[in-house]
Amino acid sequence: MEEVIESAVAANLDAVRTRVEAATRAASRPPGSVALVAVSKTQPASAVREALLAGHRLFGENRVQEAQAKYPELRAAFPDLKLHLIGPLQTNKAREAVALFDMIETVDRPRLAIALAREMERSGRRLPCLIEVNTGEEAQKSGVMPTAADAFIGECRDVLGLPIEGLMCVPPIDQEPAPHFALLREIARRNALGILSMGMSADFETAIRFGATHVRIGTAIFGPRRATTA
Ligand SMILES: *Cc1c(COP(=O)(O)O)cnc(C)c1O
Repeated sequence: MEEVIESAVAANLDAVRTRVEAATRAASRPPGSVALVAVSKTQPASAVREALLAGHRLFGENRVQEAQAKYPELRAAFPDLKLHLIGPLQTNKAREAVALFDMIETVDRPRLAIALAREMERSGRRLPCLIEVNTGEEAQKSGVMPTAADAFIGECRDVLGLPIEGLMCVPPIDQEPAPHFALLREIARRNALGILSMGMSADFETAIRFGATHVRIGTAIFGPRRATTA
């Protein structure tokens, strides 16, 4: 049983890579210009290991604690793996997050930006950060509002000195994603930011058409999310 589940990860990865390449070509973008972030939240370490054995190295997790439980051991075995934080970060977890991740994709409020800047200064470990934009202006969702994005980017970059390299968004579940991707691209363009993290299992081809440099894909690689984590 375990055998079957694990080889499915390698096959799924192959299929997703092929689709990413095709979408990149269809958008007349250079080969290799879209990075695939394999989102392993709720998946056991054994599934991540299968992806690593298939040659994949870039992963995303949405909770600090879950990543802490799974990744130190995997990193020891595969020192070149990279891990992105793609979920909300509590200010009091800034220290752990800076120590554990290679990129924070979800900088979304001044207090967190201050905590991250302070921790990077203290530890000497500067990691690239993305600002999450709430493109759908959804009340319950994290991310800076689009109208506040320019000012927040300026504050993070110029006042706090954070290494802000791009933007991230999660469009509303019930809407056409394209206008949200277009909005994120426009905010990045006018702020001269190079990274656009957008697109998930259901819409990554559209995101690539709109300039995604990073797509975050979970279920298309690992299958349905599990109730528990290993
Ligand atoms: C879970 C998650 C993903 C992956 O979603 P899938 O639909 O499983 O591909 C991408 N981005 C974020 C922020 C997530 O929380």
